[in-house]
Amino acid sequence: MAQSIPQPEKSGRPDSTPPSNASPDCLSCGACCRTGHDGRILVPEADLVRWRAAGRDDLAEAVQPGHFGYVGFATRADGSCVHLGTVESANACQIYEIRGTTCRDFEAGSEQCLEFRRDAGLD
Ligand code: SF4
Ligand code: SF4
Repeated sequence: MAQSIPQPEKSGRPDSTPPSNASPDCLSCGACCRTGHDGRILVPEADLVRWRAAGRDDLAEAVQPGHFGYVGFATRADGSCVHLGTVESANACQIYEIRGTTCRDFEAGSEQCLEFRRDAGLD
């Protein structure tokens, strides 16, 4: 079971609004992957263990200090997650299949998702 941790930003589903039937496509969006600061999108210890077990120590070592004593994803100078952007798309996650628990739990089509998209000028 995924570890439950407090999230100040990309925080899962605090709202009760059901997701739209036509959820936006995360791999062509990436709006919530641009939070602006290191450590905002928290990474629970279970993710670090999972990545190391999969031979991706590089992911575990790329994190930065985050809120509440946790670590979180590092960001680039433009505020985007260091794992955002592929050859095919600047908005696709490079590690989508093994992305963090916080990323998996953040529901496409939720109120928070749509807010990120509106702020990014996508909706
Ligand atoms: S969860 Fe929403 S804001 Fe985040 S990448 Fe997916 S569609 Fe975009
Ligand atoms: S790991 Fe992938 S899905 Fe998660 S914030 Fe970074 S780019 Fe977005």
